[in-house]
Amino acid sequence: MHAASMLDQALTRLDEAARHLALDADVLEKLKYPRETTKVRLMIRMDDGSRKSFMAWRCRYDDTRGPTKGGIRFHPASTMEEVETLAFWMTFKCAVMNLPYGGGKGAVQVDPHTLSKAELERLSRAYVQAFSKIIGPDRDIPAPDVYTSSMIMGWMADEYASIVGEATPAVITGKPIALGGSLGRDDATARGGYYLVQRLAQQLGLESGARVAIQGFGNAGQNIARLFAADGYRIVTVSDSKGAVHNPSGLDVEKLMAAKRRESVTGLAGSDGVSILPADDLVSVDCELLVPAALEDMIHEGNAASVKARVILELANGPLTPEADEILATKNIVVLPDILANAGGVTVSYFEWVQNRGGYYWPVEDVHARLKTMMEREGDAIWVLARDKGITLRSAAYVHALSRLACAIEAHGTQQ
Ligand code: GLU
Repeated sequence: MHAASMLDQALTRLDEAARHLALDADVLEKLKYPRETTKVRLMIRMDDGSRKSFMAWRCRYDDTRGPTKGGIRFHPASTMEEVETLAFWMTFKCAVMNLPYGGGKGAVQVDPHTLSKAELERLSRAYVQAFSKIIGPDRDIPAPDVYTSSMIMGWMADEYASIVGEATPAVITGKPIALGGSLGRDDATARGGYYLVQRLAQQLGLESGARVAIQGFGNAGQNIARLFAADGYRIVTVSDSKGAVHNPSGLDVEKLMAAKRRESVTGLAGSDGVSILPADDLVSVDCELLVPAALEDMIHEGNAASVKARVILELANGPLTPEADEILATKNIVVLPDILANAGGVTVSYFEWVQNRGGYYWPVEDVHARLKTMMEREGDAIWVLARDKGITLRSAAYVHALSRLACAIEAHGTQQ
C-alpha cells in the first residue's frame, strides 16, 4: 500500500465508529489530524570514522487525555506517514485501556542490523538529543517498538538524564530493570493478548489443544508462543522475515527460540516433522487462531479470503487492512483488534511510569494481576458493546475509545 494513504485508511475506522455515537463535529475535527510531527536528520559517527545520516520523526498525535505515549521503531521502511498512523493508533489504544495518556510514536529510518552496538548507541543518544525538548515525563513518553529494545531505552534514559541534569526515569518506559524498568514489561504485549484470549476463549470457541499460527517471531511472537504452548495450545506454524516453519503436531517453542537466536526460525527445518513454508503461506495455514505479530498490512484484499482460522489476535499494530476486515467479517472470523489485543505493552509501560514516579517497585505478581484485571475489564466492555450494537470488535473498540476521547475533549472546554 502507498504510505501516503495509510493514515486515511486508519481514519476510516474512526469514521465508522463515529456513526455509532452522537458526537460534536469538533471531536472528529480534532482527531482527524496529528497535532505535531517533528522531523530531524540525525548524524552519527560510524566506527570507521565516516559520518552517516538517518531520517527520524516523533509525532504527538493527540494529548487530550494526557501526555503522549508510544514507542520508537528503528526500521528501514519507516516513513512519516507510518509514524503518524501508529501515533493515531496509540491515541485510541490508550483510550481503550483508560490510561491517562494521549498517543505518540517515533521512528528512525534505519536497518539496525547493519549497525555495530556502538553505532546503535550513538544513534539512540542522537535521537534523544534531537527530541529532548519534545519528550518529557509529563509531555511525551517513548518506549520500545519494532527493532528497539530495553537496552536502547536504557541508553535513551541515560542521555536524557545528562541533558536535563537529573535522573528522570519516567521519561521513557521499557527500560532495563537496573535503570527503573518494571518487572513484567518484557512479555507484557503478548501476556495482555493471552489474558484476553483466556477470558473470551469460551465465547470464541477455542479449546485447549487449539492450533495457533504466529506471523513474526520478535518480542510479541516469541512470548505469545511460550504462553500459549504452556497452556496446551499447539503452535503449528511460525514465520519471521526469512520464512516459515510448520509442524501439524506442534513446534517446540524452546527450539524455535534457539533457532531464532542463531538467525531465523527456518533453522528448525529438517528436525522431526518440521517443514519449510513460504512466509506468505502462513496466513492460509489450517489453524484455529492466527496471530499476526509483525508489521502493518500483512492481511489484505489479496489474501484475506484464504484465512482458515476462526479467530485473529492482532499483536502487531495495523496488520489487517480495512478491506481485509470486510472479507473476514463475511466469513464470520472474529478479530481481536490491535488497539485492545496488543495494549498489554503500553499498559505495563503505564505501570512502569507510575512506579518511577512513586519510587516504589511492585513484585511481578502485582504487575500480572493488574494487567489481567484491566485486559478483562476493557475486553468484557468491548465484547458487550459489539454484541449489543451488532458490530465488530474493532468497531466496538473504537466506539469505546472514542466516547472517552470525546468526553475529555469536551471537558477541556470549547473556547480555546
Ligand atoms: N510500542 C508499543 C505499542 O505499540 C508500546 C508502546 C508503549 O509502551 O508506550 O503499543
